[in-house]
Amino acid sequence: MKTTIVGFPRIGENRELKVQTEEYLAGKLSFQELEAFAKDLRKKHLLLQRASIDLVTTGDFSYYDSLLDTSVLFNVIPERLRNLKLSDSELYFAIAKGYQQDGYDVKASPMRKWFNTNYHYITPEIDDNTQIKLNGSKPINDFLEAKQLNLTAKVVLTGPMTYLKLAKFAGNKGVNDFVDSLTNAYLDLFKKLSKVDCKYIQLDEPILVTDLESCDIELFKRIYDKLLSNNANLNIILQTYFGDVRDIYQLITSMPFYGIGLDFVESTTTLELLQKYGFPNNIKLIAGVVNGKNVWKNDYTKTLNILDKIREKTKNVILSSSCSLLHVPYTVTSETHIDEEIRSRLSFAKEKLLEIAELQQLLESNNRSQELILINNTKALSRINKLEKADVQDRVAKLTKADFVRTPDRETRSKIQQEYLNLPILPTTTIGSFPQTKEVRLNRSRYKTGKISKEEYISNVHTFIKDCIKLQEDLDLDVLVHGEFERNDMVEFFGENMSGFLFTKFAWVQSYGTRCVKPPIIYSDIKREQSITCDISKFAQSLTSKPVKGMLTGPITILNWSFPREDVDIKESAIQIALAIRDEVLELEASGIKIIQIDEAALREKLPIRKADRATKYLDWAIPAFRLTHSGVNAKTQIHTHMCYSEFGDIINEIDDMDADVISFEASKSSLEILNSIKACNFKTAVGPGVYDIHSPRVPTVEEITDVIKKILTVIHPSKLWINPDCGLKTRDIAETKASLTNLVQSAIISRPLCK
Ligand code: GLN
Ligand code: ZN
Repeated sequence: MKTTIVGFPRIGENRELKVQTEEYLAGKLSFQELEAFAKDLRKKHLLLQRASIDLVTTGDFSYYDSLLDTSVLFNVIPERLRNLKLSDSELYFAIAKGYQQDGYDVKASPMRKWFNTNYHYITPEIDDNTQIKLNGSKPINDFLEAKQLNLTAKVVLTGPMTYLKLAKFAGNKGVNDFVDSLTNAYLDLFKKLSKVDCKYIQLDEPILVTDLESCDIELFKRIYDKLLSNNANLNIILQTYFGDVRDIYQLITSMPFYGIGLDFVESTTTLELLQKYGFPNNIKLIAGVVNGKNVWKNDYTKTLNILDKIREKTKNVILSSSCSLLHVPYTVTSETHIDEEIRSRLSFAKEKLLEIAELQQLLESNNRSQELILINNTKALSRINKLEKADVQDRVAKLTKADFVRTPDRETRSKIQQEYLNLPILPTTTIGSFPQTKEVRLNRSRYKTGKISKEEYISNVHTFIKDCIKLQEDLDLDVLVHGEFERNDMVEFFGENMSGFLFTKFAWVQSYGTRCVKPPIIYSDIKREQSITCDISKFAQSLTSKPVKGMLTGPITILNWSFPREDVDIKESAIQIALAIRDEVLELEASGIKIIQIDEAALREKLPIRKADRATKYLDWAIPAFRLTHSGVNAKTQIHTHMCYSEFGDIINEIDDMDADVISFEASKSSLEILNSIKACNFKTAVGPGVYDIHSPRVPTVEEITDVIKKILTVIHPSKLWINPDCGLKTRDIAETKASLTNLVQSAIISRPLCK
């Protein structure tokens, strides 16, 4: 056995699984029909794998999410759903999506980001009455499907340690109270798998690439000593990904695993660990050398170089992907409209299978250089010269430290802005988008498909903006927005107006459940080709005497929601995007826009998993890139930013260091904890902690909001506080929005006298 992968995408070539699952959820398809469909899809994926690799994966298929599958398999059902009379499939989707039928109104389990990816998992919820035990047969059925096709298959399971560490414990009990029952449940499953002739099991333990404490290492030992000693006839693969296992390398390599999967792509430390500590010859090293997170062809020369170094330490190697291929789209072949020059450099899941096979062939070849030429991979990483932009590179090269610093300092600016903007204390505003009604969507889609002219499209957008400004004036908000009716997401609209971005037609990636995203691909130097938002912002501002915020997406969010280049350092792309946004900022300012918001909704997305890497491998360029976007404006121009979460306690100083004048963030659901840490660290940016949750249709009352404001005022000085919802309003309807914002404004008015 020489080749494998960590996992394969499940959504299908054209998101078929999403479509069918949604049909089922809408009651248009029975669960049996959905199952039959899914079985065919799995078979197709198994055969596809077999065409290129030796050890195929099974068990990684899921209707919604693998952690959710694991919960259901081991009887971890949230307490509030335990006694509802639901069928297995109803229960499964109820955990994922909540259950609002037959008089029930039960919340879904919380969803969280899967490590440093844009995939989200359903958080296991364990309470004091949870009885963990094997209560299902999905992995066994999945294995039997592969067996029927005569394939050598490994069953992929979420690892018990990762599962427990990601679970949420509702009662008094914690990880240690459930570790034995969970380990036993895995052992029961192993027995059953063994009975049907399963030989290989892959346990995914990405938690091992996080910073581990000694208690974590103890936990690992406790689980794996038992798992490994109790099953003589199963070959267990410990699979890690998204980084290196520096805290536990020596321990895992001393345990009797059949194989250990390591990621040689995302962390260069993996190779260093191997070189320093060696690798036992009786364990298979499953070398993750083909990037499961990005869309470019593998650089075979570079990879062979790594593999040669690996083989100096062990020859017992199986080639694999760095992580599951779930994080890349299905196949390049669908993208017929892409320039051939660029297309020939792309590699999605299906193509990566082939790359692994080719690498294996090269590794064994007696005449590698000749074969390399045959495989014609030499262009994988070379710059596409005709697409390079010398002027952009030159501009980046000429940047100096001063370009990243806005003057005067924030306090001086704050006084100037106060005078210039003349806003009341506790000013009210919103985050940017207003409800995306049917008419708004239809207008965009009709324009995109050529059904209406540009003039008609713009005239409709103007009508939406007029209504939106009128609504905000009626509500008596202090700082207005234009409503974002011309965008459907935060990146596409900007990417389309910059060179260097490629938009695919079918390159969908699962984000969560049935939701897929189609991230653009950055393939060359980035340049703002024309003004992007100025016309719209100017139009909106012309309708009112109140300030209307210019609304932009920040460089790190644009970068983090795209597939990055591999031929240049990611920093370089970040700075290039920052320069493009900077041009837009300056043009907005010159057009009379007094307040500009630069959203960094996804700043945390690629924050390194390990604390030690955060400052030196990410924040040291991400924060300066943001500063570059606004350092050129006048003191009186007020810069806002927005983040879609409030877990920034651990990077709070860096966020302050972005040097925005105002930041809004999500705080309605979480406690006031973040506000305390804001106070404790002497945070200098003015803040708008969201005072109500826009993710729910519920209209908050005046009392509720006033109460929240009162609490916030116990920690934040009134001169530094803004009153706003916690995110954009695009998913809400107009009636809810009106009612909620009426109450928000009312609450601010009531609270102002308290600030004397
Ligand atoms: N300005 C954007 C909006 O209001 C921000 C969206 C976001 O934070 N995800 O929609
Ligand atoms: Zn947000």
